[in-house]
Amino acid sequence: MVTRAERDLVQEQLEYLHRRHLSIGDDHVASFYPPEMEAQRHLFGVAGTNVDGTQWSVGDCAHRFPLQSISKVFTYALALEDNGREATLNRVGVEPSGDPFNSITFDEARNRPHNPMVNAGALVAANLVRGRDPAEKVERLVDRLRTYAGNPDLHVDKEIFEREMVSNDRNLALSYLMRSLGMIDGDIEDNIVVYLSACSVQVTAVELSVMGTTLANGGVNPHSGSRALGRQHVRDVISVMSTCGMYNAAGEWAYDVGIPAKSGVSGGIVTAIPNYFGLGLFSPGLDVYGNSVRGIGLCRELSARFGLHMFAGPTESRFGRVAQPSQQQPDS
Ligand code: GLN
Repeated sequence: MVTRAERDLVQEQLEYLHRRHLSIGDDHVASFYPPEMEAQRHLFGVAGTNVDGTQWSVGDCAHRFPLQSISKVFTYALALEDNGREATLNRVGVEPSGDPFNSITFDEARNRPHNPMVNAGALVAANLVRGRDPAEKVERLVDRLRTYAGNPDLHVDKEIFEREMVSNDRNLALSYLMRSLGMIDGDIEDNIVVYLSACSVQVTAVELSVMGTTLANGGVNPHSGSRALGRQHVRDVISVMSTCGMYNAAGEWAYDVGIPAKSGVSGGIVTAIPNYFGLGLFSPGLDVYGNSVRGIGLCRELSARFGLHMFAGPTESRFGRVAQPSQQQPDS
């Protein structure tokens, strides 16, 4: 249980880090992003949810933004549940590719995409989701997202979806190539509809933090008590987030921040620290890898201050060594 003092301390720290990172890093937004994101790049929301249900939020936490690539985590999770571990692994690997998310590269030795966090792997994961037709697959997927987030109203945003569908040549090319190689089957457009529908679901930073916490909490939403993912798949999903979640900066992130996470080009980042808490961050300014500049900066500093790195030493206690904001130097 989070004590009142701990809750206040975390809130204070988040407010301090939010203020600090608000003033830096709204460099640019991804070139393939619609122009209105340009106008949103001042937005910055950070929310946290503990497995005991305690919540923190700072900044623009009511603003809705599309999950984009963050949805890949949850599509993969459902693919695992629908097909089991072995069958899923046969179709999509768990190896960081070191290449950009939309690159056209595969694990040639095993004839499968490198991992489910890049587009090729996510298209295969979408292909693995069960359903009579794309509409049923999408409904099953969105229904899971609702359980993760604890919001029964989550839905595919039509406008975002339509826009994604008309700027989609690369995913189409990737899909046709993969079908010719036997990596996916069925109708390509139908499969793209499933993949892009999940990308087009909008959430708030608070909801995103609950989604992360649901994973951190063994697949059970900490507020509703509803199960979003079978316990036996949670470890696999979090593992792949920790090795492949941050595009081609995944290694640097693991080294520096050491928290399982996944980002999307909308500027969102979800994190899940098993048995502890999840964060949801949103700020559209992206770095060269497509990760939110402010989101990365805040997570890096939060991880250092609270000793959150998964390989942090025993002295780097989660709450004990946190200095008060007033005593901190900007780069300590
Ligand atoms: N809609 C995007 C695509 O598939 C998702 C991109 C992302 O967030 N990396 O191109």
